[in-house]
Amino acid sequence: MSTNAELFERAQRVIPGGVNSPVRAFRAVGGTPRFITRADGAYLWDAEGQRYIDYIGSWGPMILGHGHPAVLEAVQKAATQGFSFGAPTEREVELAEAIIALVPGVEQLRLVSSGTEAGMSALRLARGVTGRSKIIKFEGCYHGHADALLVKAGSGLATFGHPTSAGVPAEVVQHTLVLEYNNVAQLEEAFAAQGREIACVVIEPIAGNMNFVRAALPFMKRLRELCTAHGALLVFDEVMTGFRVALGGATSLYAKAIPGFTPDLWVFGKVIGGGMPLAAFGGPRAMMSQLAPLGPVYQAGTLSGNPVATACGLATLREIAKPGYFDALAARTKKLVDGLTGAARAAGVPMVGDCEGGMFGFFFPRTAGEGLPQNYATVMATDKERFNRFFHAMLDRGVYLAPALYEAGFVSSAHSDEDIAATVRAAGEALES
Ligand SMILES: *Cc1c(COP(=O)(O)O)cnc(C)c1O
Repeated sequence: MSTNAELFERAQRVIPGGVNSPVRAFRAVGGTPRFITRADGAYLWDAEGQRYIDYIGSWGPMILGHGHPAVLEAVQKAATQGFSFGAPTEREVELAEAIIALVPGVEQLRLVSSGTEAGMSALRLARGVTGRSKIIKFEGCYHGHADALLVKAGSGLATFGHPTSAGVPAEVVQHTLVLEYNNVAQLEEAFAAQGREIACVVIEPIAGNMNFVRAALPFMKRLRELCTAHGALLVFDEVMTGFRVALGGATSLYAKAIPGFTPDLWVFGKVIGGGMPLAAFGGPRAMMSQLAPLGPVYQAGTLSGNPVATACGLATLREIAKPGYFDALAARTKKLVDGLTGAARAAGVPMVGDCEGGMFGFFFPRTAGEGLPQNYATVMATDKERFNRFFHAMLDRGVYLAPALYEAGFVSSAHSDEDIAATVRAAGEALES
């Protein structure tokens, strides 16, 4: 049997940093990443046979937990029928129909293989439809690793952003304006200055890539008004929140709170693949018909709408659409967050938390009485050292939280009340120590 450390060492010889996606390397929290050998329900097992209660869920997709019988059956059946055809299948149509039925406003979808691909394609479509080049994104939101979206704020407002990665030419991000999340004044200024040139505003409606930060209702309402007034498209990146914070995603939550609210384009991923490589972007028929082969905006993919991945996604969506599913999931997630913050209060440690559906976040503010962070700067100002100690103390106790303070957590319907109780007990011990 190899230890995690041995595997990590071997991995680092052949894979940069030993991982195929950077956050898995534990660089933010330190220590050795766990090499996972198998998963079942709410649990993961590592190479050393240690069991963990899993609050990452593959970063969101595993909403039913691991190895759900209905999903497993659908995937096994699909696999025997063929892995990939490069020709259309009925299951792609079924999955598109299922997603469209759940999210009001989406009339057509195109399936792709990753959230990055979906975000990049939605951006091209927005630019193609509007004939404009500039885009707005918000600091702390992640929309995949396409060049134009790997941008951080410049030194002042209305200056365009800087690449956050080497290898992204400054010219490629010169059209990307980066604003502060939840800052209405900045938004007003940006639209006043360059409104006629903005193709789209892309946003995580509940930002899960800076832990868990909600777009405030007045901010979202004004964002919609400004986009409409200036002819810019509002793109909801629901790769994480879609079919996770509610059956109809964050779209349904904002539509309920703001009369008449709807985004113009959507990006989905994670849950819609149920753990397989699958994502999508969609919108009204008039916009989507600008895509090839109907229109001038090119987009394609060898494995797009893969028959095994669509079987996995469809089976997952069918389970979560059952009556009462989200109420039960939301109640369990709330129990976890209340339990964690309660344990912190008992230990005299400042902690704030929030959740929606099966997604949650918690923070260690540096001073008692501070509320939930509203933007990237306030998230990053929370106590990182305390988070890292807590992360490792929980891992030692068999609880696998996201290994960075800027990542959201996920509860699945496979998490039992006893799993939640065990997690809260572990948190009590960890916070006391
Ligand atoms: C995960 C994520 C992406 C990127 O999806 P990948 O499948 O990792 O490329 C894009 N946007 C958001 C909001 C995400 O959470």
